[in-house]
Amino acid sequence: MTSYRKVGSIKNLEIVSVCNLACPYCPARLQGEHREVGLMTDEVFDRSMYWLSRFVKAGTQRELNLFGVGEPLLHPKVVQFAAAARRIIPGYLSARGVTLRMNTNGILLTEQILRDLFSAGIDCIDLTDHDAETSMKAVRILREVTGQPLPSQALGTKWGYSRDAITNPNNWGGLIDWTPSVQYERYICPWLSGGCVMFMSNGDVTRCCQDAFSRGVLGTVWDEIDQVDHTPFIQCRTCHEDVPPGMPPWKPLSETNPHLIYPEERKEQIRRTVESSAAIEGVRVPKIKEKEKI
Ligand code: SF4
Ligand code: SF4
Repeated sequence: MTSYRKVGSIKNLEIVSVCNLACPYCPARLQGEHREVGLMTDEVFDRSMYWLSRFVKAGTQRELNLFGVGEPLLHPKVVQFAAAARRIIPGYLSARGVTLRMNTNGILLTEQILRDLFSAGIDCIDLTDHDAETSMKAVRILREVTGQPLPSQALGTKWGYSRDAITNPNNWGGLIDWTPSVQYERYICPWLSGGCVMFMSNGDVTRCCQDAFSRGVLGTVWDEIDQVDHTPFIQCRTCHEDVPPGMPPWKPLSETNPHLIYPEERKEQIRRTVESSAAIEGVRVPKIKEKEKI
């Protein structure tokens, strides 16, 4: 039987959890009803860097994406954050290299910010296409700055391009209704098999980037998160990715990690550390309706 893996890698660091678009195939427009959303604070980011450093030293850190469910270029410190992460992780061309990448919808991409991001140590920018005009402008900038004429997913390339909502659609583990289930491309969940997690903008640590509504939180950046078993949660039952064969199925967190606590005071601490998104231009955030932890 495949046993649980301990948390050992930050796959996504969600520096922003709001977006300047509201795509119908994405839960970003709804997640503010379910969790605290906004910009990651310095306090949460610094603690995330502590864990990044621990995971790199342990040899368990894989690719790091400065992206969660939201648009990272909305963060005024995105370049500074990229540089800080780069100082910790070895270059992707070294023996233990880790690729530092970032997804964007391209709306805020300029030649200057792109040059700054590459100078800060970003290896690759992944442009996701949601609008032809925006993407065309972004592609032109990416070509000019990188000298790479075409997008690529190969290691060592500077930019990629995707239109996943059309070519590789899914329903975000059942959070939204976008595509018939027959269109799902199924594969073994790399989060569960690799001990990979998403550090959320408010300091929560959750199982994967599908968890836009914060139902799969394993702990926080202030917990001993490397001692936590990465386990399936309720959303895995409706996800397009498969729980690794033989891994024990979903159980309540209290059964798989009985030492974990999530007291009210901690929730309040987290709530205070997320910066208000009210001041972010062009972003509307709904009020939280409920808070559900499973
Ligand atoms: S741009 Fe990306 S993060 Fe924003 S709503 Fe669309 S799919 Fe979601
Ligand atoms: S199988 Fe579970 S942990 Fe893996 S991506 Fe789906 S919801 Fe997330």
